[in-house]
Amino acid sequence: MHSIGIIGAGVTGLTAAYDLLKAGHRVTVYEARSYVGGLASGFKDEAWEWPLERFYHHIFASDRDILGFAEELGLQDLAFFESPVTSILKGGRLYPINKPMVGPWLERLPLGRQLANLADLVATGLRVLAFDPIPFFARLRVGLVSAYLRYTRRWQPLEAVTADVWLSRKVGKRAYEAFWQPLLVGKFGPYYQQVNMAWFWARLAARTPKLGYFTGGFQGFLEALADRVRELGGTILLEHHVRGIHPELDGRIRLELSTDDQMHDRVLATCSPRMLRERTPALPTSYAAALEQMVSMGAVVLILALKHPVTRDQYWINIPKQEGFPFLAFVEHTNYIDRSHYGGDSIVYCGDYLPQGHEYFVMTEEQLLERFIPALQRINPGFSRDWIRAYWKFTEIYAQPVPLLNQSLAIPSIETPVANLFMANMSQVYPWDRGTNYAVEIGRRAARLIGKS
Ligand SMILES: Cc1cc2nc3c(=O)[nH]c(=O)nc-3n(C[C@H](O)[C@H](O)[C@H](O)COP(=O)(O)OP(=O)(O)OC[C@H]3O[C@@H](n4cnc5c(N)ncnc54)[C@H](O)[C@@H]3O)c2cc1C
Repeated sequence: MHSIGIIGAGVTGLTAAYDLLKAGHRVTVYEARSYVGGLASGFKDEAWEWPLERFYHHIFASDRDILGFAEELGLQDLAFFESPVTSILKGGRLYPINKPMVGPWLERLPLGRQLANLADLVATGLRVLAFDPIPFFARLRVGLVSAYLRYTRRWQPLEAVTADVWLSRKVGKRAYEAFWQPLLVGKFGPYYQQVNMAWFWARLAARTPKLGYFTGGFQGFLEALADRVRELGGTILLEHHVRGIHPELDGRIRLELSTDDQMHDRVLATCSPRMLRERTPALPTSYAAALEQMVSMGAVVLILALKHPVTRDQYWINIPKQEGFPFLAFVEHTNYIDRSHYGGDSIVYCGDYLPQGHEYFVMTEEQLLERFIPALQRINPGFSRDWIRAYWKFTEIYAQPVPLLNQSLAIPSIETPVANLFMANMSQVYPWDRGTNYAVEIGRRAARLIGKS
């Protein structure tokens, strides 16, 4: 039995803690913030029944790791799935891409769930064919290439080419620029032409039109997981910022906290690669440099609690930069999850992925609101300032790793060069895009490795 310290009570840290406790180890989780959940955590306005994610969150019907884990924890009944509308804004017009054509009744038939998934995919295909800013032949190419990407399993050759080059070659420049380039530009900003095609493949191969959520929000799931960790004897120390990670001569690791130091036989760090580098002076120079070179984007969201809905049925609108909006994603959460859970508020996220140093990170929430109001009025001309009951701004510097060419060669292993120090974070779930499902997967993988060490 080892004494194990885990840095971070996000999905990765809590999952690893659970498995390590089950394997008989002693576990202490150190979390800098005053709450568990990390990027997937929620906050609660006093008028709400359910907490709301600081950053918009859903899972996919194909997210086997998190759904399997929920089942193991006896929390499977918390997860539920809907098929909300997601659209692209183009030339001021909304084009639904995911919008079910068959009602939920289909799911009640024998084999109904499979039929409903198939119907959703067919509906998406038909909606791509109806995307008339590009010629019909180009739409057909988009549909065929999407189908190819969805069903091919060999992603390895795709990481040697950029998504920008591969996609424009396969569907033609015009279709690429109208359909997929905006997504890459929106997510990766200045790096969009460097992102490899395997990342893009993973998005199409792993995602479903059906989106999942938890009763009580993601925070409901995360609190229940934290409770299981405590029930198994684990300790979760909130507001415990780890300031230094130091290997000792006897092979143990000393964690430097603001109040005292703690010794552990093994340590798992689930913070960002850069944070690990900064906190661990003993890392070999070449490894520290490799961590430093990992590129990522930050995220900024403004959440509005409104007296009225902004759109009738849109959950998610992707907004290409050419449309001249000050944000990339408009997410009307209450067109997905019933507003009765939020005291009747309509909840809207305006979000963007941005490089570090962007002005949005330092602007106040009032300044951001002033910047965004005209854009909300473009989405609904009736939108007025007095609809706003409350609003919040959230930012995160390490929000989206950028997968460059041949990224698999640059992924750091879970075992670091420092004996008994392990690392697990979003940068290591490649080729999959970061997500709570993969946080569960890597948390479990890290726990297995630590258990064997
Ligand atoms: C804008 C946005 C939208 C997203 N949407 C989705 C989605 O729809 N679906 C989905 O599944 N996933 C989504 N994700 C991704 C998902 O949130 C992450 O993949 C997942 O939560 C990562 O969990 P983690 O535990 O690895 O990291 P984190 O959640 O970042 O947890 C790390 C924890 O470590 C703590 N920490 C860091 N440094 C220290 C230190 N020195 N001392 C103590 N504690 C420390 C942090 O406070 C944090 O709590 C989204 C992410 C963002 C940013």
